[in-house]
Amino acid sequence: MKLEETKQDWIKAFGDKPLAIAGPCSAESQEQVLRIAHELDKDYVKVFRAGIWKPRTKPGSFEGIGEIGLKWLQKVKEETGLLVSTEVASAEHVRLALEYGIDILWIGARTTVNPFLVQEIAEAIKNYGGTDKIVLVKNPVNPDLDLWIGALERLLAQGVTKLGVIQRGFSSYIKTKYRNNPQWQIVLDFKSRYPNIPVIVDPSHICGNRTGIQEIIQQGFNFEFEGTITETHYDPDNAWSDAAQQIVPARLLEILKETELRKHSGENSKYDTEISHLRSEIDQIDGQIWDLINARMGVVSKIGKLKKEYNVAVYQPERWEEIIKKSKEQASAIGLNPEFVEKIIKEFHQESLNIQNKIMS
Ligand code: PEP
Ligand code: MN
Repeated sequence: MKLEETKQDWIKAFGDKPLAIAGPCSAESQEQVLRIAHELDKDYVKVFRAGIWKPRTKPGSFEGIGEIGLKWLQKVKEETGLLVSTEVASAEHVRLALEYGIDILWIGARTTVNPFLVQEIAEAIKNYGGTDKIVLVKNPVNPDLDLWIGALERLLAQGVTKLGVIQRGFSSYIKTKYRNNPQWQIVLDFKSRYPNIPVIVDPSHICGNRTGIQEIIQQGFNFEFEGTITETHYDPDNAWSDAAQQIVPARLLEILKETELRKHSGENSKYDTEISHLRSEIDQIDGQIWDLINARMGVVSKIGKLKKEYNVAVYQPERWEEIIKKSKEQASAIGLNPEFVEKIIKEFHQESLNIQNKIMS
């Protein structure tokens, strides 16, 4: 069977509203997971999330509570009726998660990048008898659509057919307002290739803060995504991981109530759907352009300070001619109009001179 032929009926079983998954970044204690789970509104939230093993960027931070947390998740399920989900990153995680009856497994963004690990996880799911589980695959941290699809294919090849993906944004070295840049176009490309596979948006790891959560969820609904996974904690500031981005259950409910659902594209004209996708692509690219310009101006300031320190003139004609020449050559090579590019680079240069003059004086 091919991915595009799989029937993803599992998502419909959750009802008409988009599927809402919520819970803390990490399980911290039995009291913590139970309290959060009880506070979630069950009309909206159907699945509880909590990380048991946490992939942290640097050593020395909290790396997850481990096996005991799986027991707490069992308790959450017993007491609240919520299905429970956690991240698995190795065969051993799969073995334990299945042993404790975890309903939904997800593969984290740092694992999706690694075909060896994804293969190991897929085989473990089969070997430990978990092929009837729902498995969600987060996008890899790098914007590689084939790698993402490859992970789904590895799961499918081992007999896992209840699949979905999670859009959690992509890493970039340049600082933007997001923790992980959403790069919606990649996910929309995924969606047009595999309209059958549910897409769930993870506003928490895209934003990295609380303020952007609602906007990202709305954006996901604008694209008719099938669900959300939002980090939720009764005391976000004191969470053991990802404190800045977690919201309280009451706030999540507010957001889920306020966000508007869009009609299915079948009811929309094809034009409306296409134009909204393309416009979002433009918005996305504009955002990237501002981030890049901002990064460029940051370097300009550094150069200004260096020139001041060494008492060097702000305007360096040879360097400027070289920049114009290089920009026009590069523009021609990629099919951009060189005169247009020259106009833009002149504007950049003027602004750079202004910045450096300010630094000098
Ligand atoms: C998480 O969901 O807590 C997590 C670690 O996310 P990601 O894999 O997207 O970084
Ligand atoms: Mn997290």
